[in-house]
Amino acid sequence: MALIVQKFGGSSVADAASIKRVAKRIAETKRMGNDVVVVVSAMGDTTDDLIDLAEQVTNKPPSREMDILLTAGERISMALLAMAVTDEGIEAHAYTGQQAGLLTDDRYGQASILGIVPERILRTVKDGAVAIVAGFQGVNSQNDVTTLGRGGSDTTAVAFAAALHAEVCEIYTDVDGVFSADPRIVPAAGQVALMTYEETLELAAHGAKVLHLRAVEFARKFNVPLHVRSSFSNKEGTWIVSDNLSQQKAMEAPVISGVAHDRSQSKISVVGVPDVPVAASKIFATVASADGNIDMIVQNTALSTPGQSNISFTVPRTQLTGVVDALKAERSELGIKEIQVTDEIGIVSIVGAGMRSHSGVSAKLFTALSDIGVNIDMISTSEIRISLVVAPDALEESVRTVHTAFGLDSESEAIVYGGTGR
Ligand code: ADP
Ligand code: ASP
Ligand code: MG
Repeated sequence: MALIVQKFGGSSVADAASIKRVAKRIAETKRMGNDVVVVVSAMGDTTDDLIDLAEQVTNKPPSREMDILLTAGERISMALLAMAVTDEGIEAHAYTGQQAGLLTDDRYGQASILGIVPERILRTVKDGAVAIVAGFQGVNSQNDVTTLGRGGSDTTAVAFAAALHAEVCEIYTDVDGVFSADPRIVPAAGQVALMTYEETLELAAHGAKVLHLRAVEFARKFNVPLHVRSSFSNKEGTWIVSDNLSQQKAMEAPVISGVAHDRSQSKISVVGVPDVPVAASKIFATVASADGNIDMIVQNTALSTPGQSNISFTVPRTQLTGVVDALKAERSELGIKEIQVTDEIGIVSIVGAGMRSHSGVSAKLFTALSDIGVNIDMISTSEIRISLVVAPDALEESVRTVHTAFGLDSESEAIVYGGTGR
């Protein structure tokens, strides 16, 4: 008997009617003879609403209490979904992350999974019932609840799929699969039938929130096939499979599989740094001490001031204050003349395994953007990705222009079934 893990995102369980619709699908999968483990997100925008509420109470919510608050969202949806599945005539039981045996480290708000003790879930499945697990949450060694970071229910689902050796992990969301760009800003985006873990990792790491980055990392590590599809239609979604498996596909695949965009980063420039090798290492050690995750770095020697250089880098906006405060505290020790901050930047990234074997990709990218007068501030590349920093108000047009330039526009308009895109 196949074991299937099904994950339903917030937009798929936004209200009572949606919960009943999802319950029917779960019951159907079970009746078809499969063992089913479900992972569910909080209803609609519940998590955002809870964050707003905390911010009305204090501008410095303690991280432990914040996690207690946020895990409440998934408690509600898991209980209601278990009731609705039971109402379909299929026995179902709901479990918090803690009850389901999802163990994490202590980093409230962005905990990492240390392991899963799946006995309770296995017992439920063995007894013929459906196990409904609250996404996005676990428990640390002190028995305190933790959360895995925004969008973390995907990671819960893949982690259980790996631990239970599931045949497939189905990620149900509000679009028909992974598209060549976010359908909310590129209506001409086309659905991708097959993607490699590697490409999906690059997209997820650069703003395509359709999958949580760590979920893709887990899937790749444990070779869990992912099927991203809509809970609002019965269409076949996008399969995300091993990099080798889809190498045949790479032969005829388009050079670029997708365009991602990201508005969640900020830029920090440290100006007038002594142009000696140790300076950069000290600066980045300071950034690391403030838990800053750097994505792009550009260093240039200022021609007007020999012996000095400027270093610019990007960090997630949520880490900006912490990193800037740490740099300011060490400013004279680091020999920095000035720290400049750009709160809002736009990042557009093109991703494609076909890039390895094709030349002229950068030329096409830069030409497309210069044709619409978009200035490029920073550049970073990997083997299968190019990312560019542009002005935030030029971001959407840049994404659409690049999408067209690489021949990704599809004839039909992409459907977004639900969700607020928040
Ligand atoms: P869920 O609540 O189901 O977890 P999310 O809102 O986290 O859903 O992710 C789905 C959303 O991801 C879509 O509605 C879409 O706007 C966005 N998205 C961004 N990039 C892409 C992409 N390349 N393909 C599909 N969806 C994307
Ligand atoms: N409810 C959580 C969030 O909104 C987790 C998730 O939906 O994946 O981030
Ligand atoms: Mg999500």
